[in-house]
Amino acid sequence: MPDEFDLIAQLRQRAETRAPVEIGIGDDAAVLHHPHPTREVVTTDMLMDGVDFRWGEAPPELIGRKCLAVNLSDLAAMGARPTAAFVSVALPRTFPGQQIERMFQGLFDLAEEFEVVIAGGDTNSWDGPLVVSITAMGDVTEHGAVLRSGARPGDSIYVTGACGGSLQGRHLTFTPRVREALWLQHQFPLHAMIDISDGFAADLHHILDESGVGAIISGEIVPVHADIPSDWSAEQRLTAALSDGEDFELLFTTPVSDLPNSCLNAHPQTPITKVGVVTAEPGCWLRSESSGLAPLPKLGWKHALG
Ligand SMILES: [Mg+2]
Repeated sequence: MPDEFDLIAQLRQRAETRAPVEIGIGDDAAVLHHPHPTREVVTTDMLMDGVDFRWGEAPPELIGRKCLAVNLSDLAAMGARPTAAFVSVALPRTFPGQQIERMFQGLFDLAEEFEVVIAGGDTNSWDGPLVVSITAMGDVTEHGAVLRSGARPGDSIYVTGACGGSLQGRHLTFTPRVREALWLQHQFPLHAMIDISDGFAADLHHILDESGVGAIISGEIVPVHADIPSDWSAEQRLTAALSDGEDFELLFTTPVSDLPNSCLNAHPQTPITKVGVVTAEPGCWLRSESSGLAPLPKLGWKHALG
């Protein structure tokens, strides 16, 4: 692996400085400046080799990319515009320097795509596996932060994209729904939002629990991703879509019952599907033509690669 100071010098060269970051990598700490009073969202996600990715089974660029992408997805779920990120890594001593550089390459490429300044962090080496912890910040727009707790009876429930089968590879390559979140929030009143990391059903339950409401989901309408094998039964495919996790799509509620069926600001346009309604009575139900109403339990992915 490269000398720590060489690595920091390389990262410093690569990092841009843009508002709100006044002083980024290279001093004892970063300096941020907000010209106007603003609310900020801060999120942290720590990813570990063997849990969130497997080093050696995926290109290092994609591993670095994912470590930042999951953080941007959380900012998107809050309706925030990403600004800066702080990257801390525990690097295995045995890793070749070139592969570590490739990991940072993937991370910086995504940062540039979303105009996120890598403003600092920490690099350490040890005899354990790779650990990457990123803290990301974003500005709340004039519409405010979108919380999990805002769902109201009568709201429609929507999801972006399609769900399931992410561990086939999409969990490393997904595009965080930042543009979609900002566009939606600008156009429509969003009551509650979450990004799907644990799984559609588990994350829906997070919204329902926090909001003190229930929901009815239309099983036939839930968008099933093409990554789920087409020769599975319809029921198996739906179960995978509802439980697989790591989709990093947005699940949200709004009083608007006729949203457009795609986000018009993304290229290619990201589908939006109305999958259900929020009810006053607590409880989560799946409606299907074949079996009527059945409880939709908190199925979910338990943070372990298959
Ligand atoms: Mg989240």
